Amino acid sequence: MHRRIGILGGMSPESTTVYYEHITRRYAEQFGDYGYPEILIYSVCFQQFVDWQHAGRWDEAAREMARALEALRAAGADFGLIATNTMHIVFDAVQQAVRMPLLSIIEATAAGVLAAGVRTAGLLGTVFTMREPFFRAGLARAGVAVQVPAPDDQEHLNHVIYQELCRGEIRDESRRFFREVIERLQADGAKGIILGCTEIPLLVRPEDSAVPLFNTTLLHAEQALRRALEPDPAPPPVPASAG
Ligand code: GLU
Repeated sequence: MHRRIGILGGMSPESTTVYYEHITRRYAEQFGDYGYPEILIYSVCFQQFVDWQHAGRWDEAAREMARALEALRAAGADFGLIATNTMHIVFDAVQQAVRMPLLSIIEATAAGVLAAGVRTAGLLGTVFTMREPFFRAGLARAGVAVQVPAPDDQEHLNHVIYQELCRGEIRDESRRFFREVIERLQADGAKGIILGCTEIPLLVRPEDSAVPLFNTTLLHAEQALRRALEPDPAPPPVPASAG
Protein backbone atom coordinates (compact mmCIF):
# COMPACT_ATOMS: atom_id res chain seq x y z
CA MET A 1 0.00 0.00 0.00
CA HIS A 2 1.25 3.48 -0.82
CA ARG A 3 1.60 6.22 1.74
CA ARG A 4 -1.61 8.23 2.15
CA ILE A 5 -1.34 11.92 1.19
CA GLY A 6 -3.05 14.60 3.30
CA ILE A 7 -3.65 17.92 1.52
CA LEU A 8 -4.46 21.08 3.42
CA GLY A 9 -6.40 22.81 0.66
CA GLY A 10 -8.93 25.49 -0.10
CA MET A 11 -6.35 28.31 -0.34
CA SER A 12 -7.70 28.53 -2.90
CA PRO A 13 -9.89 25.68 -4.19
CA GLU A 14 -8.87 26.63 -7.76
CA SER A 15 -5.39 25.20 -7.20
CA THR A 16 -6.30 22.46 -4.71
CA THR A 17 -8.08 20.64 -7.52
CA VAL A 18 -4.89 20.82 -9.60
CA TYR A 19 -3.01 18.84 -6.93
CA TYR A 20 -5.68 16.11 -6.95
CA GLU A 21 -5.81 15.99 -10.72
CA HIS A 22 -2.04 15.97 -11.18
CA ILE A 23 -1.30 13.25 -8.63
CA THR A 24 -3.93 10.87 -9.97
CA ARG A 25 -3.27 11.56 -13.67
CA ARG A 26 0.50 11.39 -13.37
CA TYR A 27 0.27 8.05 -11.62
CA ALA A 28 -1.98 6.61 -14.34
CA GLU A 29 0.34 8.03 -17.06
CA GLN A 30 3.43 6.55 -15.45
CA PHE A 31 2.10 3.14 -14.46
CA GLY A 32 -0.87 2.63 -16.75
CA ASP A 33 -3.31 1.58 -14.02
CA TYR A 34 -5.40 3.21 -11.30
CA GLY A 35 -3.25 2.23 -8.34
CA TYR A 36 -2.63 5.83 -7.26
CA PRO A 37 -2.10 6.68 -3.60
CA GLU A 38 -5.05 7.53 -1.40
CA ILE A 39 -5.56 11.27 -0.93
CA LEU A 40 -7.34 13.08 1.87
CA ILE A 41 -8.20 16.77 1.35
CA TYR A 42 -9.09 19.18 4.12
CA SER A 43 -10.55 22.27 2.43
CA VAL A 44 -10.53 25.19 4.86
CA CYS A 45 -12.72 28.28 5.03
CA PHE A 46 -10.39 30.56 3.06
CA GLN A 47 -11.91 33.87 4.24
CA GLN A 48 -10.72 33.23 7.78
CA PHE A 49 -7.14 32.94 6.52
CA VAL A 50 -7.40 36.02 4.31
CA ASP A 51 -8.58 37.99 7.38
CA TRP A 52 -5.67 36.68 9.45
CA GLN A 53 -3.20 37.55 6.67
CA HIS A 54 -4.42 41.16 6.59
CA ALA A 55 -4.40 41.44 10.37
CA GLY A 56 -0.87 39.94 10.52
CA ARG A 57 -2.30 37.17 12.75
CA TRP A 58 0.01 34.46 11.41
CA ASP A 59 -0.06 32.78 14.82
CA GLU A 60 -3.82 32.19 14.49
CA ALA A 61 -3.37 30.91 10.96
CA ALA A 62 -0.61 28.53 12.06
CA ARG A 63 -2.76 27.20 14.90
CA GLU A 64 -5.70 26.50 12.62
CA MET A 65 -3.48 24.91 9.96
CA ALA A 66 -1.93 22.62 12.56
CA ARG A 67 -5.40 21.64 13.79
CA ALA A 68 -6.56 20.78 10.26
CA LEU A 69 -3.38 18.81 9.49
CA GLU A 70 -3.74 16.87 12.74
CA ALA A 71 -7.29 16.01 11.66
CA LEU A 72 -5.84 14.67 8.39
CA ARG A 73 -3.31 12.64 10.34
CA ALA A 74 -6.05 11.24 12.62
CA ALA A 75 -7.97 10.28 9.47
CA GLY A 76 -4.98 8.26 8.25
CA ALA A 77 -2.68 10.62 6.33
CA ASP A 78 0.99 9.58 6.45
CA PHE A 79 2.35 12.95 5.41
CA GLY A 80 0.95 16.36 4.61
CA LEU A 81 1.07 19.20 2.10
CA ILE A 82 0.14 22.82 2.62
CA ALA A 83 -1.27 23.60 -0.82
CA THR A 84 -0.30 27.28 -0.96
CA ASN A 85 3.01 29.13 -1.13
CA THR A 86 1.89 32.06 1.01
CA MET A 87 1.01 29.98 4.04
CA HIS A 88 4.53 28.49 4.06
CA ILE A 89 5.35 31.67 5.95
CA VAL A 90 4.42 29.61 9.06
CA PHE A 91 5.66 26.24 7.77
CA ASP A 92 8.17 25.68 10.59
CA ALA A 93 5.68 26.48 13.37
CA VAL A 94 3.06 24.23 11.80
CA GLN A 95 5.53 21.38 11.29
CA GLN A 96 6.50 21.58 14.96
CA ALA A 97 2.86 21.21 16.00
CA VAL A 98 1.95 18.33 13.65
CA ARG A 99 2.96 14.72 14.25
CA MET A 100 3.55 13.76 10.62
CA PRO A 101 6.07 15.05 8.09
CA LEU A 102 5.07 17.95 5.84
CA LEU A 103 6.55 18.42 2.37
CA SER A 104 7.60 22.01 1.75
CA ILE A 105 6.61 23.71 -1.52
CA ILE A 106 9.73 25.88 -1.18
CA GLU A 107 12.04 22.85 -1.08
CA ALA A 108 10.19 21.23 -3.99
CA THR A 109 10.59 24.47 -5.95
CA ALA A 110 14.27 24.86 -5.12
CA ALA A 111 14.91 21.30 -6.31
CA GLY A 112 13.08 22.00 -9.60
CA VAL A 113 14.96 25.25 -10.23
CA LEU A 114 18.34 23.68 -9.49
CA ALA A 115 17.56 20.64 -11.67
CA ALA A 116 17.00 23.06 -14.58
CA GLY A 117 20.41 24.63 -13.95
CA VAL A 118 18.93 28.03 -13.04
CA ARG A 119 20.69 30.03 -10.31
CA THR A 120 18.92 33.40 -10.63
CA ALA A 121 15.15 33.39 -10.78
CA GLY A 122 12.33 35.93 -10.67
CA LEU A 123 9.54 35.33 -8.17
CA LEU A 124 5.85 36.04 -8.75
CA GLY A 125 3.33 35.51 -5.95
CA THR A 126 1.23 37.26 -3.37
CA VAL A 127 2.66 40.35 -1.67
CA PHE A 128 3.42 38.17 1.35
CA THR A 129 5.46 35.72 -0.72
CA MET A 130 7.36 38.44 -2.60
CA ARG A 131 7.86 40.89 0.27
CA GLU A 132 8.49 38.71 3.32
CA PRO A 133 11.83 36.89 3.48
CA PHE A 134 10.63 33.28 3.97
CA PHE A 135 10.44 32.22 0.32
CA ARG A 136 13.58 34.02 -0.87
CA ALA A 137 15.52 32.76 2.15
CA GLY A 138 14.53 29.16 1.40
CA LEU A 139 15.72 29.51 -2.18
CA ALA A 140 18.91 31.28 -1.10
CA ARG A 141 19.74 28.37 1.23
CA ALA A 142 19.52 26.08 -1.80
CA GLY A 143 21.84 28.39 -3.78
CA VAL A 144 19.24 30.22 -5.90
CA ALA A 145 19.19 34.03 -5.96
CA VAL A 146 15.69 35.47 -6.22
CA GLN A 147 14.53 38.77 -7.72
CA VAL A 148 11.12 40.25 -7.01
CA PRO A 149 9.10 42.76 -9.07
CA ALA A 150 8.88 46.47 -8.19
CA PRO A 151 6.41 47.38 -5.38
CA ASP A 152 3.68 48.65 -7.75
CA ASP A 153 3.87 45.49 -9.81
CA GLN A 154 3.70 43.43 -6.61
CA GLU A 155 0.43 45.15 -5.62
CA HIS A 156 -1.14 44.56 -9.01
CA LEU A 157 -0.05 40.91 -9.14
CA ASN A 158 -1.54 40.44 -5.66
CA HIS A 159 -4.82 42.02 -6.77
CA VAL A 160 -5.09 39.68 -9.76
CA ILE A 161 -4.37 36.64 -7.55
CA TYR A 162 -6.99 37.36 -4.88
CA GLN A 163 -9.66 39.14 -6.97
CA GLU A 164 -9.48 36.99 -10.10
CA LEU A 165 -7.47 33.77 -9.98
CA CYS A 166 -8.68 32.53 -6.57
CA ARG A 167 -12.23 32.97 -7.94
CA GLY A 168 -11.50 31.10 -11.16
CA GLU A 169 -11.49 34.24 -13.35
CA ILE A 170 -8.97 34.19 -16.18
CA ARG A 171 -8.54 37.50 -18.03
CA ASP A 172 -6.42 38.27 -21.07
CA GLU A 173 -5.50 41.74 -19.82
CA SER A 174 -4.12 40.20 -16.61
CA ARG A 175 -2.11 37.68 -18.62
CA ARG A 176 -0.64 40.56 -20.61
CA PHE A 177 0.33 42.28 -17.35
CA PHE A 178 2.02 39.12 -16.02
CA ARG A 179 3.93 38.84 -19.32
CA GLU A 180 5.19 42.40 -18.96
CA VAL A 181 6.37 41.76 -15.39
CA ILE A 182 8.13 38.58 -16.54
CA GLU A 183 9.90 40.59 -19.27
CA ARG A 184 11.03 43.18 -16.73
CA LEU A 185 12.42 40.46 -14.43
CA GLN A 186 14.17 38.86 -17.38
CA ALA A 187 15.68 42.21 -18.39
CA ASP A 188 17.00 42.47 -14.82
CA GLY A 189 18.80 39.14 -15.22
CA ALA A 190 16.31 36.42 -14.20
CA LYS A 191 17.09 33.18 -16.02
CA GLY A 192 13.81 31.58 -14.97
CA ILE A 193 10.55 32.62 -13.30
CA ILE A 194 9.05 30.97 -10.25
CA LEU A 195 5.25 30.97 -10.38
CA GLY A 196 5.22 31.21 -6.60
CA CYS A 197 1.49 31.18 -6.11
CA THR A 198 -0.43 28.00 -6.77
CA GLU A 199 -3.06 29.79 -8.92
CA ILE A 200 -0.69 31.65 -11.30
CA PRO A 201 -0.23 28.65 -13.63
CA LEU A 202 -3.97 28.82 -14.33
CA LEU A 203 -3.24 32.13 -16.11
CA VAL A 204 0.40 32.05 -17.22
CA ARG A 205 1.61 29.34 -19.60
CA PRO A 206 5.13 28.42 -20.75
CA GLU A 207 4.54 30.30 -24.02
CA ASP A 208 4.08 33.53 -22.03
CA SER A 209 7.77 33.62 -21.16
CA ALA A 210 11.08 33.49 -23.00
CA VAL A 211 12.75 31.90 -19.95
CA PRO A 212 11.64 28.68 -18.18
CA LEU A 213 8.69 28.91 -15.80
CA PHE A 214 8.65 26.93 -12.56
CA ASN A 215 5.16 25.78 -11.65
CA THR A 216 5.23 25.42 -7.85
CA THR A 217 1.87 23.61 -7.75
CA LEU A 218 3.07 20.83 -10.05
CA LEU A 219 6.53 20.60 -8.46
CA HIS A 220 4.89 20.16 -5.04
CA ALA A 221 2.27 17.66 -6.29
CA GLU A 222 4.96 15.71 -8.14
CA GLN A 223 7.09 15.46 -5.02
CA ALA A 224 4.06 14.25 -3.05
CA LEU A 225 3.43 11.49 -5.58
CA ARG A 226 7.07 10.36 -5.43
CA ARG A 227 7.02 10.39 -1.63
CA ALA A 228 3.79 8.37 -1.51
CA LEU A 229 5.31 5.70 -3.76
CA GLU A 230 8.71 5.50 -2.04
CA PRO A 231 9.36 2.11 -0.48
CA ASP A 232 9.59 2.02 3.32
CA PRO A 233 13.17 2.24 4.57
CA ALA A 234 14.68 -1.15 5.31
CA PRO A 235 14.35 -2.14 9.00
CA PRO A 236 17.59 -1.95 11.01
CA PRO A 237 19.58 -5.20 10.90
CA VAL A 238 18.90 -7.63 13.76
CA PRO A 239 22.09 -8.32 15.73
CA ALA A 240 23.40 -11.83 14.96
CA SER A 241 23.69 -12.85 18.60
CA ALA A 242 23.01 -11.22 21.90
CA GLY A 243 25.46 -11.46 24.82
N1 GLU B 1 -2.54 30.00 -3.32
C1 GLU B 1 -1.82 31.19 -3.17
C2 GLU B 1 -0.34 30.89 -2.94
O1 GLU B 1 0.14 29.89 -3.41
C3 GLU B 1 -2.36 32.33 -2.44
C4 GLU B 1 -3.57 32.13 -1.57
C5 GLU B 1 -3.20 32.19 -0.12
O2 GLU B 1 -2.82 31.17 0.44
O3 GLU B 1 -3.31 33.26 0.45
O4 GLU B 1 0.37 31.66 -2.37
